[in-house]
Amino acid sequence: MPSQNDSPQDNRERDLACREIYAALRGQFKGDLLRPSNQGYEEARTIWNGMFARQPGLIARCADVRDVQAAIRVAAETRILSAVRCGGHSLAGFSTCEGGLVIDLSRMREVKVDPNSQQARVAGGCLLGSIDTATQKEGLVFPSGVVSHTGASGLILGGGTGWLTRRFGLSCDNVEAFTLVTADGSVVRAIAKENEDLFWALRGGGGNFGVVTEFELKLHPLKSVVLAEGLTPEPNIRQVLECWRDLMADAPFDLKWNLDLRLAPQKQRVPAQLRGRPVAGSSLVWTGAPEDAHRYFERAFALCHPDSVYSRTMSFLELQTMADSDFPHGRRYYTKSGYFKYLDNVTIDHFLAALATIPSPETQIELTYLGGAAGQIAANETAFGDRGSPFITNLLANWQDPSADRLHISWIRLLFQKLRPAMTPGVYVNFMSGDEQDRVPEAYRQRWERMVAVKTHYDPGNFFCLNQNVRPQKKA
Ligand SMILES: Cc1cc2nc3c(=O)[nH]c(=O)nc-3n(C[C@H](O)[C@H](O)[C@H](O)COP(=O)(O)OP(=O)(O)OC[C@H]3O[C@@H](n4cnc5c(N)ncnc54)[C@H](O)[C@@H]3O)c2cc1C
Repeated sequence: MPSQNDSPQDNRERDLACREIYAALRGQFKGDLLRPSNQGYEEARTIWNGMFARQPGLIARCADVRDVQAAIRVAAETRILSAVRCGGHSLAGFSTCEGGLVIDLSRMREVKVDPNSQQARVAGGCLLGSIDTATQKEGLVFPSGVVSHTGASGLILGGGTGWLTRRFGLSCDNVEAFTLVTADGSVVRAIAKENEDLFWALRGGGGNFGVVTEFELKLHPLKSVVLAEGLTPEPNIRQVLECWRDLMADAPFDLKWNLDLRLAPQKQRVPAQLRGRPVAGSSLVWTGAPEDAHRYFERAFALCHPDSVYSRTMSFLELQTMADSDFPHGRRYYTKSGYFKYLDNVTIDHFLAALATIPSPETQIELTYLGGAAGQIAANETAFGDRGSPFITNLLANWQDPSADRLHISWIRLLFQKLRPAMTPGVYVNFMSGDEQDRVPEAYRQRWERMVAVKTHYDPGNFFCLNQNVRPQKKA
């Protein structure tokens, strides 16, 4: 992994460098500069994944583009290890670092919506919730993720999947322009016809190329959806997986059906007889005409025998926040992910066996089906790449007690090892953990050389190294 340890500096050197950066920025910086002794530092240093309780030497909370430029220029001179943070939801913990600099964009959260052109300008520190709230005032949506406290920048730059992916494409497919500060402190705009290589690489390439300070987004009209949820216990879980696999292959773009294999939560809305038992949780979202929803929901549920079903029309804002409390800040999380072209019976056997030994009530095997509008874009059109393997699994361990780290991490690794032979090569960078640097070329496959060329051009010294890192080519 590129990293905390690749940096040429040890902790004492990093501390000296942070003092230098602090002194250099102090007179010109409009935002906040937080050293470990400053009030507000403790809160500012935490990120969502409690596995990464690191102590940066300086947090530069930028107020505007000039602050970002100044922080990058000064940091690049000292070669300090630097992390970039929007929402702090990196599963891999990339948005913090030990002893180094954090370029924090959380003060840059402006969203400007133009209802006439159905476009928005979104600052680089926005959370998904800030975009949804602003766009919904005009009855518009931007397709993004399913938890509103996730940062928009990290999500969009990696690709961005969510409830609207099948209807409107990935988040990155709906970006019309990026404005970013590159490693030499310049401001660059990338659009389809200007800096095309960079525009291509930013749609899926993560934080490798610079700090994005503004996204120009394409929006779509939508105010509400129909949601149905069902819980299916054994002995019908295999049937759910088969039914989901077969139905989604020809489903309309308006239907998104996500599955979670997990222990049924101890929640009031879950029937008492199911709580704590292994279940397949189905969440179906219909974005088309509401009267058509039930035809598909009934077909799905008739085949997979849920014990508990619930359906209703809900506002888009409610949909976007309904999972917020399931993924709280500060718990410990570990993930591994991959694609399948088809879910064969052996793969389903592995899922079922793993579900029977799941080590925590919050851990889940997430299954989602891409296709739809996202699947219509050719593999080489964006860095995100091959969309031809529509089944995505994300194995997400979620626990509280640090002494149980090994148990949860090894459960995920073992399951991943078993699933791996049936997976098609490829991985979504935003669902990778921090120990998978060897899989980064796999994420880009035939696009790898172009990614390296763009990285070498815009960040030859690998200043932006805390990400699923594309290393620049060394000078001959
Ligand atoms: C609770 C939760 C729910 C999620 N749900 C979804 C989902 O529905 N769909 C989905 O696709 N993914 C989802 N993810 C994964 C998510 O896309 C990634 O974790 C993403 O990195 C989060 O973005 P962030 O801005 O919060 O991350 P941060 O931790 O702030 O940043 C992560 C990395 O992104 C880069 N970065 C951040 N901001 C910038 C910027 N302005 N310019 C350049 N680079 C930047 C940096 O490399 C940084 O290390 C979820 C993650 C969590 C924790």
